Amino acid sequence: MIGCNHKSRVIHNVDVNNQKVDYFTNNGFGNAVAIVQHPAGVYHKGITYVAYQGPLEDPYVASYNHTTKEWKGPFKAGVSQMGKNPNRKKKIDNHGKPAILIDDADYIHIAFGGHGGTPEDGKNPLGNHHYGKNLHAVSKKPLDISEWETLDNISLFGTYSQFVKMDNGDIYLFYRHGAHRSDWVYQKSIDNGVTFKAPVSFLKHKRRTNIEAEDSWYPWVSKGNGDDIIVAFDYHICRDNKNTQDARGHIPERHNVYYMVFNTKTGVWKNVKNESLKMPLTKETADKKTLVSAIPDDWTFQGITDVDPNGNPHVCILVGPDVGEDRSGPKRMQHFRWDGEVWLKSKNKALPRGNGDIDVKSSKEVSIYLESETSEGIGEISRWDSFNGGMSFKKGTVFLRRNNASFVISTLIDNPHPDARIIVGEKESGTDYRKMYLLGDNGAIKRSKSEAEILKY
Ligand code: ZN
Repeated sequence: MIGCNHKSRVIHNVDVNNQKVDYFTNNGFGNAVAIVQHPAGVYHKGITYVAYQGPLEDPYVASYNHTTKEWKGPFKAGVSQMGKNPNRKKKIDNHGKPAILIDDADYIHIAFGGHGGTPEDGKNPLGNHHYGKNLHAVSKKPLDISEWETLDNISLFGTYSQFVKMDNGDIYLFYRHGAHRSDWVYQKSIDNGVTFKAPVSFLKHKRRTNIEAEDSWYPWVSKGNGDDIIVAFDYHICRDNKNTQDARGHIPERHNVYYMVFNTKTGVWKNVKNESLKMPLTKETADKKTLVSAIPDDWTFQGITDVDPNGNPHVCILVGPDVGEDRSGPKRMQHFRWDGEVWLKSKNKALPRGNGDIDVKSSKEVSIYLESETSEGIGEISRWDSFNGGMSFKKGTVFLRRNNASFVISTLIDNPHPDARIIVGEKESGTDYRKMYLLGDNGAIKRSKSEAEILKY
C-alpha cells in the first residue's frame, strides 16, 4: 500500500480488479419480467431466487445469498417452444415468461413457455390455440438452481402462469387454458408438485349472443389471509376479426375491474360480501356479484390486489383512454379499497403513469411499487405510500433512476427480504436484451461486472 495516500487512485485500482455494476445480468430478453406471470422471485432461507425470460425466450433463474453476498447463475432452467422461429411475425411472444415457487421439500419450480398450444397438440377442451407449450420444470436438487428437469404433469395449453403456495404446502398453478377464447383454470398439487390434479375452470369464456365477440378475462391471483386466494380481474371483449359491428375487428380492449375470493379449505368462491359464487364465473354473474367498478369507456390493464389483516381488499387497475390498436396508451393506476360495506375509489392524482404491485399493511397503510417515466425520459422505480387508505399517495423510496430509460417490472417478490423486493428489466434502444436489476430498500443489489456481463452487445 506504499504511496496510496491518493484515495481516488486506490478506488480506481480496486475498480479495475473488481468493478461492480448495479445489474445482476444483462441477458434479460424482451419483456423479461411482468406483473401477470408471477411470482418472479421468492425469498427463502436467506436467499432470494429470481426468474426471468432470457435469450430465445427461455426461462433463467439466478439467486442471491444475503449473508455471503454471493450471486449464483443465471442458469437456463428449461427450453421454451417459443422464441426459436426468426420468421415469426411477432418477433418476441413474451407470454411464456416463468413464474417461480419453492415447495415444502425445498425443490424449486418454474412454469413457463406457454401461449395456448397449437392444433398439433390436439383439441383444447377448454378453449382455443395459439402458440408454445406450457411446461413445468423442477430443480434436480433442493435449493440448487444449477440443474433442472422438465416434467410432463401440467396442461401444455396454459399461458400467464401464476403460482400460489398455501400455508399447508398445497400448490396452486393458475393460468389461462389456451388463447383469448379459453377458460381460466387452476391445477392443484398436494405432493410438492410431483403430480397435479386436472384443471378446474373458474372464469368462463363464452360466446356473446348480442355482439360478434366472446367473453374473455385477465385475472391476477395472489394469496390472501389464511386459506384464501384472492383474485382481481378485468374483462376483455374478444371481438371477431371479421366484425361487421366494429370495423377494427379484434383489439386488446379491456374494461371494468372485479374481485373475488377462493377459500381453498372449503372450495367455495365468494364475492367481497361473502356471498357464494357459481363457478366457473360468467360475465353476467361477474357483473352482478363481483364488480369493484364499471369502467366502460376507458380501457383497463393488469389488476392487482392485496388484503389488510381483517381481510378487506385493496384493488388497483391501470386505466386510460382507448388509443387504438395497441395498449401503449397512457394508463394510470387507480386504487380502490373495500371498507367493509362499499368500494372507495381513491381520488388521488399524484400517482405517475406506470405499472406495478401493491402491498397492504393495514386498512390505512398501503404502498404501491411502480415503474414510471417522466416527460424528460427519466425512468424510475419507486414506492408510493399512503397512510389514509389510499385516498392520497406520496412518493417514498426511489429504488432506481436512469436517464433515457424505461423499465419492465415484476410483482413483489414472495416473502421478500427488505433488500430485494422487486425485479426489473431496463429497456435499451437498439437491443431486445435487458439489464436485469434486483431492487430493495438499499437500491440495487450489486454484482461484479465480469459476472453480470454475460452477453456482449
Ligand atoms: Zn381477444
